[in-house]
Amino acid sequence: MINIDLTGFKFIINFDYVAIMIMAIMLIYMYIGRLVSLRRGKIFTIVIILSIVATTLDIFRANIINGIVSAHNYDANLILLVNIIQTLYLLVLFILTFSFFSYIIDISCGLAYLKKKKLMLILLMLPALAMFVITVMNFFTDTLLKFVLTNGRFYLRLNFTLLLVTFSLTLVYLVLTIVFMIRFKSVFEKKQTIGMSLILPLVAVGVITEIMVDKLLVLSFMISMCIILVQTVLESSEDLVDEKTKLYNISEFVKRVRKVYINKENKYLLLIKTTNYPELLKEYSSNEVYEFNMLVTQTLNETRKKSKMKDELFSLNDGYYASIMSGESIKFADSDDFRDSIVANEIRIDFIPVIERCLIELPNDFDSADEVINFVNNYRQAITFNRVFTVYHDVKGDKNLVIANHLEQIIDTGLKENEFVVYYQPIYSIRNKKFKTAEALVRLNSKKYGFISPASFIPYAEKTGRISEIDSFVMEEVFKFVSSSIFQVLGLEYIEINLSMAECVDLGLVDRIKELLDRYSVDPKNINLEITESFDTSEMEIINNNLNKLVELGFKFSLDDYGTGYSNIHRFSSLPISIVKIDKSLVDESEDTNIKKLLDYSFNIVKDLDKQTVVEGVETKEQLDRFIDYGATYIQGYYFSKPLNYESYIDFVQEKNE
Ligand code: C2E
Ligand code: CA
Ligand code: CA
Repeated sequence: MINIDLTGFKFIINFDYVAIMIMAIMLIYMYIGRLVSLRRGKIFTIVIILSIVATTLDIFRANIINGIVSAHNYDANLILLVNIIQTLYLLVLFILTFSFFSYIIDISCGLAYLKKKKLMLILLMLPALAMFVITVMNFFTDTLLKFVLTNGRFYLRLNFTLLLVTFSLTLVYLVLTIVFMIRFKSVFEKKQTIGMSLILPLVAVGVITEIMVDKLLVLSFMISMCIILVQTVLESSEDLVDEKTKLYNISEFVKRVRKVYINKENKYLLLIKTTNYPELLKEYSSNEVYEFNMLVTQTLNETRKKSKMKDELFSLNDGYYASIMSGESIKFADSDDFRDSIVANEIRIDFIPVIERCLIELPNDFDSADEVINFVNNYRQAITFNRVFTVYHDVKGDKNLVIANHLEQIIDTGLKENEFVVYYQPIYSIRNKKFKTAEALVRLNSKKYGFISPASFIPYAEKTGRISEIDSFVMEEVFKFVSSSIFQVLGLEYIEINLSMAECVDLGLVDRIKELLDRYSVDPKNINLEITESFDTSEMEIINNNLNKLVELGFKFSLDDYGTGYSNIHRFSSLPISIVKIDKSLVDESEDTNIKKLLDYSFNIVKDLDKQTVVEGVETKEQLDRFIDYGATYIQGYYFSKPLNYESYIDFVQEKNE
């Protein structure tokens, strides 16, 4: 224990005032820059607030002591107050260090990472706990440092060794900060790690100066310097970085692609997408998704380092990445290194990503940055090459790709310019030997791109939500037809309309259909809605709710695409289905022995459940006869007719049903 005589003592507080001003400005900046909306921003804001509190306490205590000393007013209560503030000051200082460390954990590996490592978490808490105990104990005994009045003199009594030990514990966290930044260096840029390493010496200088030059309060000032440092090195990048992956985000990517076109740079763009990412989101917890994202980020960074790639890496959300690189890095693009190392790295989560990559040559492959960005957006969802690796140049001229690249615009124009048309494919009733029904199939005849198959635009429209406009159009056309006198004259039973799954989960579906029913005064029994089985059971409630309401209104349903894998027999009982549509693939392979077994079984069940069948895609007489033998109710296929436009369909039925 040493006693420092405080007679004539005066703390120099000026640095503290400057510090508090800097901290206040930083705090305001955090709010104005909306940086507090992210978790890391919140934690960092807490760090700043704690620094302000600590500095305020520091100032308070110093001022009171300065007052006591200059007025020779050694009031016992005042001295007690000083000791209380002193204790609070130290506690806040330690909490501050610890929260700063939490901030670093959050931005490096994530707090979720530590939750799993209980032992490590406990070890990390120990120094904080020790500091806490020492400080609180100090208040009741004189163990660390205390302001005391003995023999009429005012002293600061301190245990130098313990003081050093306590502050060293604080420094432990600052050392750990650097350790964590190095351990998770792949999520930081080099200059960030270097910048952050400066914190330790800054704080150390502050602590040492305060201990050595005991009048000079500079620690808070050093802390405010650290806050500026963190702010510039780590927090200013908020609008550049994707929070989930710590990689540059989409808007940075868009800016970069534009720059390529502006500067006419020769670059390669590699798109990397996890095609089964939706499964990850569905099956795993948000912590596991987070871990997967971090894993991918790490792997991508490791692979880049290993192959000494000079590239820029972007996260385009949800398991989708882009890398802009120069020619020499391109060998990485078609190697399987990346995928293999993700799988090899996969220790914490057993999700096997399915990765698809596409290599684009910039600026040659696209005329403008906007076209690149449009393709990048479509490639995420609507376009797939069903290959692990595709060189864009090789598929560039493909008409389907050209169309796929312009689908949004094509659908838009189609709806505005009435380019959509409804075709009807006649369906033959075996019992009546007549064409009693038809399936409505949408067609798009684009003025610019010619005929476009629904197989290419329906999936896209389902993903982007445009499907409801298309289906509404089809429905309206069919309702008009059904409510017209010609429908009765032809003796038709009903028309089948495809109802996409994206529509079945739409809460507004029933109201939309009701409105159309009223407008065209259609009898719902003349409509049959074709649905496919959803493989997303999480939405079953909405789907069942919608379908049951439609059944109440009097609609009937067909189960489309039976046999394609998404539909199974168990679902017959749970869905209000009256017709099962046997898919073309079963018809094509109806000579195969296993398929024969499946067909026998299916037709038996369907009969048992009292449902009817439409066999789709029948192209030959043999197929027709085979399915008549199976006891099918209806036949649809090119054997009888392709889908026809309205006029041709009317003519066809009139002629054939005579
Ligand atoms: P789908 O519902 O399975 O429709 C049957 C498809 O098989 C139609 O293709 C039809 O033209 C074709 N097809 C019928 N018989 C034969 C045959 O004997 N041989 C061959 N090779 N093909 C045959 P399409 O019109 O190209 O439609 C493709 C898919 O697009 C449809 O499959 C359906 O899922 C979707 N789709 C078509 N129109 C609409 C619509 O209005 N709304 C919604 N939501 N989807 C639609
Ligand atoms: Ca269909
Ligand atoms: Ca079908």
